[in-house]
Amino acid sequence: MYSNMVFACQRDSYLQEFHTKAISCESAKIKLLINGKNEIFDGYNVVLEDTILFPEGGGQPDDRGTISNVQVLRITRNKDSAVHFVTQSVPLNEEIPLKLDWVRRFDHMQQHSGQHLLSAVAENKFKLKTTSWNLGELISYVEIDAPVVEFPVLKELEEIVNDKIRAAIPVTVKTYEKGSEELEKAHSRGLPDDHSGLIRIISIEGVDENMCCGTHVKNLSELQAIKIVSLEKGKKNKCNLYFLVGNRILSYMQKCIEKERIFTCFLKCGSDQHVELLEKMSKSLKTTQKNELNLIRDLALLEAQKVKQIQPKPKFYSIHRKEGNSDFMSIITNEVKDEDILLFITVGDEKGAGQVTISGKAEIVKTLGPKVGEILDGKGVAKGNRYLGKVNNLSQRSKAEQMIKDEISMNNEI
Ligand SMILES: [Zn+2]
Repeated sequence: MYSNMVFACQRDSYLQEFHTKAISCESAKIKLLINGKNEIFDGYNVVLEDTILFPEGGGQPDDRGTISNVQVLRITRNKDSAVHFVTQSVPLNEEIPLKLDWVRRFDHMQQHSGQHLLSAVAENKFKLKTTSWNLGELISYVEIDAPVVEFPVLKELEEIVNDKIRAAIPVTVKTYEKGSEELEKAHSRGLPDDHSGLIRIISIEGVDENMCCGTHVKNLSELQAIKIVSLEKGKKNKCNLYFLVGNRILSYMQKCIEKERIFTCFLKCGSDQHVELLEKMSKSLKTTQKNELNLIRDLALLEAQKVKQIQPKPKFYSIHRKEGNSDFMSIITNEVKDEDILLFITVGDEKGAGQVTISGKAEIVKTLGPKVGEILDGKGVAKGNRYLGKVNNLSQRSKAEQMIKDEISMNNEI
């Protein structure tokens, strides 16, 4: 006799369709993370006589599928029963069909059985204990009870697990009564607190025996391969070993190939030269940026010279330089250093964002600054005989210039 906890999906993890009856269907609300946003769903919690849809457990996420063609959005475990959340009610006490999202499930089986194998070899061969694991959406990791694992060890670990996969070792599930003698012999990593009924031991012949409620492949050959991707610092004195199993390696590889193709097209060289070329480009970019800064400074000095040489001395002078920066503006104002000349300097994209400096007599700058800021859709501060601002719309520059000219001639008339 099976306890409620051993669902059809645990007795046979390859069942993709099933018929059962609903025992209860109660209205409920749940919060789900959809594209990074929490959304509230109204629907029903359904408990079935039996199910092929795995509720979360043993580090494995819940399944997806349909009950009576209604999409199941979430399955949770409540003691011995699986609670299926659906958005429409389902009829009670009549035969209804269940369908499993097999692609998602088989992926979870590959990652989960792969984790058992990886953890077992790491512990048996290298004394590296697994303290927890995470089946991620794209990549999974085992938490290893050691601050670091050296690269040669990782390499050997990867070789051994892949040898075992090639050896096509069977994976079997045995169920025991709690406290039975055979169970004592099996390796176990702690029972959940609310566990009751039978205990499942997942055994990889000659490699590992492990207590687990998850769904597993029936033979290691179905894992195809395990790839260790990276090792990162974990919680105190632990490290996280990131890995991919089976189909995930192929889809990861596909993404890498596409990226490589883009790089090749963009850099116009073969993949062997990508790194070398990028290093060269980054070096040359730094030199160019340094040269550009020097040129902008020289240009600012020349502009200031030009203003100072104009005879008779102008009351207003306007400068715009697309490539300029705040240095360019401050060098000119510092060099001209004459508050009788009202300087209006802008830098940046003629049709978009940029910066503005106004310098001259303090009281004029104080009045004109905010007005210019408003016309150019920006903000700034007036300090002494200078106004500095950041603006969003330099296309209105000539309007701002005209406004300044008008204000100056008005002031002169007074
Ligand atoms: Zn497990």
